[in-house]
Amino acid sequence: MTNNISLYFHIPFCIKKCDYCAFYSIANQSEEVKQEYFEALLRQIEFFDTNKHIKTVYFGGGTPPILGIERLCALIKAIKEKFVLTDNCEITVEINPKTVDLGALRTLKAAGANRLSVGIQSSCDRILSLIGRIHTFEDAKKCIADARSCGFKNISADIIFALPEQNEEEFKKSVTDIIAMGVDHISAYSLQIEEGTPLYLKRNVLHFPDEDNEEAQYSFLCDILKENGFSHYEISSFAKDGFESRHNLNYWACGEYFGFGAGAHSFYNGKRFSAVANVNEFIEKSYISLFAPTDYEQAEILSQKELDEERIMLGLRTSKGAFIPKKAEETAKRIATLGYGDFENGILALNSKGFRVSNSIIAEILI
Ligand code: SF4
Repeated sequence: MTNNISLYFHIPFCIKKCDYCAFYSIANQSEEVKQEYFEALLRQIEFFDTNKHIKTVYFGGGTPPILGIERLCALIKAIKEKFVLTDNCEITVEINPKTVDLGALRTLKAAGANRLSVGIQSSCDRILSLIGRIHTFEDAKKCIADARSCGFKNISADIIFALPEQNEEEFKKSVTDIIAMGVDHISAYSLQIEEGTPLYLKRNVLHFPDEDNEEAQYSFLCDILKENGFSHYEISSFAKDGFESRHNLNYWACGEYFGFGAGAHSFYNGKRFSAVANVNEFIEKSYISLFAPTDYEQAEILSQKELDEERIMLGLRTSKGAFIPKKAEETAKRIATLGYGDFENGILALNSKGFRVSNSIIAEILI
């Protein structure tokens, strides 16, 4: 275990639910609930004692600005007052382009946020509207320009591929438009059609790309991002040199993190556990103790075998790779010979081709 830890804050509020969203987030919450939730997060910060230094803080959601910019800044202040932050502590805030203006971005920057993760998803307004996003591409461009003008040097954009009703040309244009915005990091996810979402109800009406098209879109993304100076450092993540998400790297390296808020996950004291995904219940239990809103007590301490397997599974998601046990070395050599990555000094590191079939590779290694 290192002497550092990451903190995650889940802010489960949005202006409106996107049609594909299965995350724990609620639209149209009252100011009263937001204030109570904010106070519950402050209580959790107060309860949380650690000698470890905080190396990253991540506000995710949901849409964190919907909690209120002043409240977000007050949380950052409380974190800085309570804990020791590493010199270059990465503080990320997820934003939706429609939910922040120049003033809000300035306030966040002044409070100490130094990285933004912007949900852009596509440059095509027709598609954005089709999947229920509340912003246009023009909103996204303005948001990035505003963020740069108030000093944000580390900006990530989310892209969704395998979207419905989009031809190849439109998809390629969307990716090149987003690259042209000059962001430093891109996370690219294929659209998942989750049961219970409005998109699921429309799954037989809309036209979705088949598996081959989805694969072609992912290949295009990998190639064009590489051509534009991004390294493919994790299955879904691409970064310009030095702009890898340190928060996520900590997850993939099996580092410790504590999740604050309803539905937040933690890996702490050797246990993986999560908090109740219900704002009211979370607020109620936040008065009792740090762990009361979570299933910490029921969670088992991970065995060495489970930890080793997690290290392999998570490590193989990244270009750093994972140390492969002796019994799987022949498999790792074969995977490297087939061009899916490199196997050197006992470490198998997949490349973009390997990432595409990483599930099967991980399953083979873990047999
Ligand atoms: S903004 Fe994000 S969290 Fe909120 S509904 Fe849309 S996808 Fe879900």
